[in-house]
Amino acid sequence: MILLALLFALQEGSQVFLTEEEALQIVFPREEKVLRREVTLDSSTHAAVENRLKRRVETTHRLFVAARDGEAVGFAMIAEEVTKTLTMTFLVGVDPKGRVIDVAVLEHKEKIGADCAKRKFLDQLRGKTVNDPLRRKKDMVHVVGATMSCDAVMRGTRKALAVVREYCLDRPQNVRAILQEEPVVQQRYVMGSLLTITAYGPKSAVNRAFEEAKRWDGILSDYKEESDLSRLNRDGKLESPELARFLGECRKVSDLSGGAFDVTVGPLVRSWGFRDGRHRVPSSAEIESALRRVGSNRVILENGRIRLAEGTLLDPGAIGKGWAVDRTVDALRKDGIASAFVDFGSTVYALGAPPGKEGWTVAVRDPFRKERTLGQLTLRHASLSTSGAYEKFFEVDGRRFCHILDPRTGRPVEGVASVSVLARTGTESDALSTAIFVAGPDLAAKAKVDSLWVSADPKAELRMTDGWRKIWRKE
Ligand code: ADP
Ligand code: MG
Repeated sequence: MILLALLFALQEGSQVFLTEEEALQIVFPREEKVLRREVTLDSSTHAAVENRLKRRVETTHRLFVAARDGEAVGFAMIAEEVTKTLTMTFLVGVDPKGRVIDVAVLEHKEKIGADCAKRKFLDQLRGKTVNDPLRRKKDMVHVVGATMSCDAVMRGTRKALAVVREYCLDRPQNVRAILQEEPVVQQRYVMGSLLTITAYGPKSAVNRAFEEAKRWDGILSDYKEESDLSRLNRDGKLESPELARFLGECRKVSDLSGGAFDVTVGPLVRSWGFRDGRHRVPSSAEIESALRRVGSNRVILENGRIRLAEGTLLDPGAIGKGWAVDRTVDALRKDGIASAFVDFGSTVYALGAPPGKEGWTVAVRDPFRKERTLGQLTLRHASLSTSGAYEKFFEVDGRRFCHILDPRTGRPVEGVASVSVLARTGTESDALSTAIFVAGPDLAAKAKVDSLWVSADPKAELRMTDGWRKIWRKE
């Protein structure tokens, strides 16, 4: 494809020197953060630019702002100018004092004149300002045989200098607005885990989203004694429409997974010591007794009222964070935020995409080597969760017991290293990553999600759904 484009270009006599990315590297060699904007000049700014140049110019321009620590440290503009009958395209970098940093030629379409791209000519432009004439036989020496192209570069450079002067330097509010389009990144501890929100939008909206996550922590927490869930566990009954709504979703995942996921695993989690961290292998009798108190039909929902069968204990560990992620995303959406990334560790949600990007890129951790990743995915309006045997486990006689239990046998699942699930919501991806961990990779198709299943045997092949394979970029 690229080769074809090049061939075509050569036939036309056109020369492609640099991509936009390469040109940006030349004018901003040190700045990694470059913000790109298509800007339309308002009528007074446009008039001021034309007045400086004494000629007509376009109202819309491609501007770049190089940013460091929230400050603009450079500007650049793409200029397209006619050489003889065709055009050439180049990038003009300008420093915050309005002096040319450098000029880099991207493309020259005309057969002759491309020598204007030589450094000997372009170097003369460095340091020039909008007050310099930039004219042949005045302050510039052109390249013989490339006169019209050299004129075009000088004309375009003056244009870029004038636009940067009027739009950026003399009207700094424009630059501030561009810099503020940087995402807000904030972190808080919620539900005992770090919640990170990256959002393109006002900080106030991000704060409200955190409030919503915290509010749900107050409803679902298994550790806060006054949470709705703790009260229900204690009293066996409670009126709470919000907790009832959550438990309704839990029931759906239980039914779908044939009981592989079950929010009533509380008694088992306690028997194996995963709640207080005092890990131990319970006796068969103890497992039997705990199992009698587990089952999704032990939660009775009547509108907003909830009742638990005798001895039932809810454990939100496999779904609560996913649910909180969804409510956080709801809050961001309600505030009009269209692009954000909510990262709750084992569950993440990609709302829209960062400006100019396809989506949010996330990596999946290698369950065998902590600091390594298995591969990457780019997500948009989707959630990814990973359940791993490497997170919480204990070993007895070389046998590993992980924190994910099979509610059908009452024992920790063996033979699985990790399961990642891609779904429309955080609730689904979180609950189903646990469910597939228990029930096996075939559950993904039934649940209509994509997943990656990693065996505890490091030599075994990864198992992924077709949909996963399509977007997966292996490390
Ligand atoms: P993470 O804590 O990394 O998000 P999971 O989402 O897989 O991992 O949740 C595991 C937790 O869910 C366990 O610590 C336990 O509290 C609870 N749990 C364990 N097995 C099950 C199960 N089969 N169904 C529902 N919850 C479970
Ligand atoms: Mg889970």
